[in-house]
Amino acid sequence: MSVRVRFAPSPTGYLHVGGLRTALYNYLFAKHHNGKMILRIEDTDRSRFVENATENLISMLEWAGIIVDESPTKGGEFGPYIQSQRTNIYLEHIHILLNNGKAYYAFDTAEELDAMREKLQAGNQGDYRYDRMNMKNSITLGMDKAIELINAGIPYVIRMLVPDNEEIIFKDIIRGEVKISSNEVDDQILIKSDGFPTYHLAHLVDDHLMGITHVIRGEEWLPSTPKHCILYKAFGWEQPEFAHLPLLLNKDKTKLSKRTGSVAVEDFREKYIKDAFINFVALLGWNPTGDREIYDFQELIDLFNLEKVNKAGAVFDLQKLDWFNFQYLQKLSPEEMGKMLNEELLKIEKTGYDLNWLNKVAYALRERVHFISEIPNYAPYFFNDEIEYEQDYLEKHWNADKKNIILPLVFELEKCKDFTHDELHSTTKKYCEENGIKMKEVIHPLRLMITGKSIGAGMFETMELIGREKCISRMKKFLEKE
Ligand code: GLU
Repeated sequence: MSVRVRFAPSPTGYLHVGGLRTALYNYLFAKHHNGKMILRIEDTDRSRFVENATENLISMLEWAGIIVDESPTKGGEFGPYIQSQRTNIYLEHIHILLNNGKAYYAFDTAEELDAMREKLQAGNQGDYRYDRMNMKNSITLGMDKAIELINAGIPYVIRMLVPDNEEIIFKDIIRGEVKISSNEVDDQILIKSDGFPTYHLAHLVDDHLMGITHVIRGEEWLPSTPKHCILYKAFGWEQPEFAHLPLLLNKDKTKLSKRTGSVAVEDFREKYIKDAFINFVALLGWNPTGDREIYDFQELIDLFNLEKVNKAGAVFDLQKLDWFNFQYLQKLSPEEMGKMLNEELLKIEKTGYDLNWLNKVAYALRERVHFISEIPNYAPYFFNDEIEYEQDYLEKHWNADKKNIILPLVFELEKCKDFTHDELHSTTKKYCEENGIKMKEVIHPLRLMITGKSIGAGMFETMELIGREKCISRMKKFLEKE
């Protein structure tokens, strides 16, 4: 049987990083097994509907390299792939359950349900399972009465009938065998009073009809899985295999949520190199080999193994993500870096740079920053002629004696024919040797005069990039003042 998996987000307006991890694992699993992945939009909760959310989701997945085989836009033989376009299918299926006594109508008002909960609580009966035999439903009232109420326009829901005293057992690929008594399972609402199915019914009918073989989803759905097992049995369907992915946690082990920082993939897309971000997300809860952390996309596919996914929550560590970005930054070509730098400069309205020069600047600084976006701040002296001198650096490396050493060197440097790294280096070296000075005694003052900053790329490389005219004039200006 060939593998078919699905990513089934609700269109809430943005893709959560946890959602991306789920989508990615589904994709890696499908590709690893030469299977298919489908995208299904679960929009039965109409109150949460957001315009264009589906388009946004698809474009975010495509950006991440997750190209699904069947989707609302691509189509496929199991469509439609949007749940709100499948309501008839759910209604047909609820009638199968009603007809064979696996589901029933319930008419309880919100107040009656509250009263039930209070009573159960007072009687210390634990949680809030629907007290089927003491409420207003087609079991206690009889089917004729129920039909009468429905015809009279009384609002109702349809609930699943959970059998008593059954042991529910299912295997989760990540967690192993899970066992629970059906007595702990609630008579879940399957059709809401607005006529729309709940997630529990809709996703399950779809998973079955769409031939899904493996349900790979977030851990938050694990407690609902026993309900789903009961439903599969009620329909007489074989259940798929399950894999519940570990939660994503903040560093302090609280659940990752919008309140504690960015969680929308869109926000990360702005900041990080795509491959770095995907590599990082892939390792949230899984490490293919345990001995390294950098994997390209094809390796992730080749090595993917659900059985190796951890049970414990995965820490979403932004520092780690920055580290990944740094690692991937080193792999970019100068042209790619330069293009990114140009985009950053445009954001701060700095334009008109020679692209070839920007490539070199970005490349020279690649090991000094985690992000290309840091460059304009890290090395402003490439883009501004007004130099700001770091006070500590100035105090440490400048005094009247220095002037006597540096002034003749400036004249030597001015005479350089090509003003290239090599020529600047050999000229400086020669000057130091002839005067019995250590190189570092002149390098710091040069850096100070030309950049104002204590850190940066190699000084001669920096000077070559800044160019003869600017370097000489900055040095002379400095020397006149100090
Ligand atoms: N629509 C559900 C969600 O948004 C999908 C859960 C599942 O994959 O079964 O999380």
